Amino acid sequence: MAKIGINIATGSLQKEEIVVGIDLGTTNSLIAVVHPDTKKAIVLKEHDSSALVPSVIYFDEHANAIVGNDAKAFLIKNPERTIFSAKRLLGKNYDDIKANANFFSYKIIDEDANKQVKIKVDDKFYSPVDLSALILKELKKRAEHILKTPVNKAVITVPAYFNDAQRQATRDAGKLAGLDVLRIINEPTAASLGYGLGVQSNISGEGGLQKTIAVYDLGGGTFDVSILKLNAGVFEVLSTNGDTYLGGDDFDNAIVQYWLVQLNIGNDYLKQNTSFAQAIRLKAEEAKKALSINTNYEDELNNYKLVLSQTSFTQIIKPLIERTIACCKKAMKDAGLQKKEIDEVIMVGGSTRVQLVKEMLSDYFAKPVNDTVNPDEVVALGAAIQADILAGNNKDVLLLDITPLSLGIETAGELMDVIIPRNAKIPSSAAREYTTQIDAQVNMRISVYQGERDIVSDNRLLATLNLKGIPAMPAGMAKVQVSFIINADGILTVKAKELRSGIEQAIEIKPQLGIDDATVEKMLLDSMANAEVDIVARALAEAKTEGEQLLKTTERFLQKNTQYLIGNELQETALAMQSLQLAITMNDKSLIQNKSTELNDLTRPYAERIMDSAIGEALKGRAV
Ligand code: AMP
Repeated sequence: MAKIGINIATGSLQKEEIVVGIDLGTTNSLIAVVHPDTKKAIVLKEHDSSALVPSVIYFDEHANAIVGNDAKAFLIKNPERTIFSAKRLLGKNYDDIKANANFFSYKIIDEDANKQVKIKVDDKFYSPVDLSALILKELKKRAEHILKTPVNKAVITVPAYFNDAQRQATRDAGKLAGLDVLRIINEPTAASLGYGLGVQSNISGEGGLQKTIAVYDLGGGTFDVSILKLNAGVFEVLSTNGDTYLGGDDFDNAIVQYWLVQLNIGNDYLKQNTSFAQAIRLKAEEAKKALSINTNYEDELNNYKLVLSQTSFTQIIKPLIERTIACCKKAMKDAGLQKKEIDEVIMVGGSTRVQLVKEMLSDYFAKPVNDTVNPDEVVALGAAIQADILAGNNKDVLLLDITPLSLGIETAGELMDVIIPRNAKIPSSAAREYTTQIDAQVNMRISVYQGERDIVSDNRLLATLNLKGIPAMPAGMAKVQVSFIINADGILTVKAKELRSGIEQAIEIKPQLGIDDATVEKMLLDSMANAEVDIVARALAEAKTEGEQLLKTTERFLQKNTQYLIGNELQETALAMQSLQLAITMNDKSLIQNKSTELNDLTRPYAERIMDSAIGEALKGRAV
């Protein structure tokens, strides 16, 4: 029985190699490392400055990106060019976010509701992956500057509720930033490691130690709670709950609203005086922070007296904290646990510094909460501890068998779609849904690849599976679920099932057959050396596939609906289609995206006209 061991994955790591831990946050990001001498996890900060790097990017008129603190000032001065909360867009399409589209002050492209979100600044398009990569690059630069050594390997954290697409997007961002992402780990798991849970149980040899942990994470803009089970050093997420639009910012807004009432100022005044609005919001945050220590807050702004007592503060924010407790109740219910079964309640996120948060939470769980680690830093610290384990520096920790290379299938544009990422624990399973590309497609070839490159021909082809007998349907209607299951012996079973008809096919593969440590190492090095080229190639392939699909839909539309076109619209559309086709032939990503936008803008009114006419017909029908 040949197991895939950690030795293969880390064979290329030299002794005591630096692997960093990164908390890629919605509001702030941090980078941390286990100090080689003290063996303690520390966050990296420049002289006297904070460890927090605001997750904000400003693009100047030459498309140069400024990241972090320096970008923050532009949130007010130049909101259309300043990107914040890019993490909320990772792995999302426009349909997912349109309910909250007003939240973003920059331009999010909405023409393709079911395609991955894009952001436009001037004539340049950025994906959330590009933007996250800029933040990661800044963190990498910071670490290299402080540690005075190249930093190429990282563990990055994501919320426990992130789906496959969001995790893959985070991996891609790491790669684009020049980082080999050894593992993506859940933020609550990292926080538990940061609080010293998990690792200790292995070191002390208490392999059977079990703990149930509630991780309460209240940041600036988001809240989540996770219930974890720790068993012999392995974390399992039992349940998660939360509110992606609830956090410390809402405390600040509530204080502002309170002051406006006290001072008899209308909300309209704030809308007209944006600098006053911003200043009073900053005062509110200051008051909130001060009340974590003092009992009263008093200050002045433009001759207005700003007062906030602890009692009023409690009244104002209690309903908001009650909403988080309701989420905790739901998470407990989903985990099927009683409150007395929770061994630890750990505090994560800057807003857990608010006393009332801790009080209400310890009342709910009927035990004191653990707040002994800096709540802003604990996730990054935990990521650094995990990174150190993966680097093989922490010899006391037992490591599980893991997949040495990513496993996935070929999708449109010859792209590799990873289903089980490298360094995943064995046994492991994952599934993803695909659809047909052409009308009446009855077969689907599924090519299984192993490797880290974005274009499949650069990876290892393991096997091909042919799913036959898909009932004829229009393109995009069939639902083919592809699942990968790796058993404890490292054998991979790939199954493909068309969900509407139930037809199914499966194949068994031994991914490690015919591959040795040296080949794995070479494949990893190649993927790092070609990361930039690969990401560019992937972005181009995706733009081309999208462009080609748009051409096909437009053509189909024109075949049936020319009667709705007026004047020289037909010629204009034909011209726009030709330009898009030319851009595709020229392999120019930006041009393809621009020409796709132009064609979309041109054809959108036709679709509206058809809708109007259909409604008109329906109304006429009723009148008769
Ligand atoms: P995070 O997203 O985890 O970085 O949390 C940032 C949030 O924590 C912001 O809303 C801050 O205003 C809040 N915060 C930071 N320090 C304190 C404090 N001492 N008391 C209350 N809230 C704080």
